[in-house]
Amino acid sequence: MTRSNGKSQTQDPALASARSVPAVHRVIELLKDVDLPRPTVLAVVRRRLNALREGLSNDRAHPPVLSAVVEAARVELRELQRRRIAPVINATGIIIHTNLGRSPLSDRAAEAAMEAARNYVNLEYDSVTGERGGRAAYLEQNLALLCGGEGATLVNNCAAALVLVLRHFAARPPRNQVVISRGELVQIGGGFRVPEILESAGATLREVGTTNRTNLDDYLRAIDDGTAMILRVHRSNFYMGGFVETPTTGQLAKLARERDVPLVEDLGSGATFDTTTLGNEEREPTPAQSLAAGADLVTISGDKLLGGPQAGIIAGSARHIAALKREPLFRALRCEKLVLAAMQATVDALLAEKTDELPIRRMMNVSVDELRARAERIVAALGSQARAAVADSEAQVGGGSLPRTVLPSIAIELHNSDPEALAERLRAALPPVIGYITEGRVRLDLRTVFPRQDEQLAAALAALAVS
Ligand SMILES: *Cc1c(COP(=O)(O)O)cnc(C)c1O
Repeated sequence: MTRSNGKSQTQDPALASARSVPAVHRVIELLKDVDLPRPTVLAVVRRRLNALREGLSNDRAHPPVLSAVVEAARVELRELQRRRIAPVINATGIIIHTNLGRSPLSDRAAEAAMEAARNYVNLEYDSVTGERGGRAAYLEQNLALLCGGEGATLVNNCAAALVLVLRHFAARPPRNQVVISRGELVQIGGGFRVPEILESAGATLREVGTTNRTNLDDYLRAIDDGTAMILRVHRSNFYMGGFVETPTTGQLAKLARERDVPLVEDLGSGATFDTTTLGNEEREPTPAQSLAAGADLVTISGDKLLGGPQAGIIAGSARHIAALKREPLFRALRCEKLVLAAMQATVDALLAEKTDELPIRRMMNVSVDELRARAERIVAALGSQARAAVADSEAQVGGGSLPRTVLPSIAIELHNSDPEALAERLRAALPPVIGYITEGRVRLDLRTVFPRQDEQLAAALAALAVS
């Protein structure tokens, strides 16, 4: 049988050159020590060989050498390996670091999640009556207590909480307008823009006031038959000072009640403690304050100042919470058992005021003297060849909260002519060490490093000095 183009295979120059590309199985054989699933390795090798085949038709004089192909694949696979989700040492000094997974869980919460993961659990089963039970009813009760609301529930994250609330109150035209101050049409972190969330939920924006000033009258004039709700968004990740004005939650709540529209506050970071104890005058509003002032509902994140797993908590009026849970969308946003178990342990600790169990709270409270002692021990262990010193540093709470609060801290400062290269070598350690560069120096802030990681950190630094 002849092929339609009439050429035999050996005469096709592209096919002839393809022969000088190493065979897949030979490359794979030499990569069998790589600790990644075989299909993952195969995909990388195939992609490389295909690229070589295409390149070869242009450059037939330089056929690829097997060892070079293997080495290049190995480099790519090592990078892939480093991109697997795994623990890192956070030496950035930012306690709630969104890129590093926000709040690490307490040991008790992590164990609770693991127990729930490995076992059957009474997720929707009432062990008292032996009948079908409410999902996470105990946790919801405790969340309500913690937030000072009649009721509470939780979904995937705070963005989901807000979408659910908007869909419930504001997705049915003509009554679908959400009154919001122009000063609160903000972006919080990556991909969370308040106006876009509103629109995606089917609500219409009714902007009032100006960027820096919005008064009660602005709200009053905007409310009409099309108003579905008033939304307040806590400007968590930046601070606006100077010629600014905004009504209090109490004033706004009174207006909302008079005009019979719900008032919802998205608090985001959602501290359940007095943040002025962190040595700064900056006060993060608590859900309890907001609800006591008359807001119908508040939404907060589970993994910011609360110190739990990723979740979005909605607290407030029992009637509204019950109605939210009946929304079909709620089913799509609800949390799984691992999250519920971890959150339950976190909330129990908060209610019992065992806040030292929570890593973020320990990190906020550890003294500079203690940090300095740890830094000195690590630097001393490195010996005289190490070009490292103990330096004063400034840590932050992070997570888009308390932008003006600076926590005095201690860092190990590394002296090196190429700080970028040094930072890369630290990232290549196991576990990776993530620091920051300031004034041409790599710094490793100890406030966000767990004391149990000090030895690993010292080992990573020792390895730098040797090589
Ligand atoms: C962080 C934040 C959110 C988003 O919370 P996620 O839990 O990340 O979805 C929403 N609103 C405010 C005010 C926030 O600070």
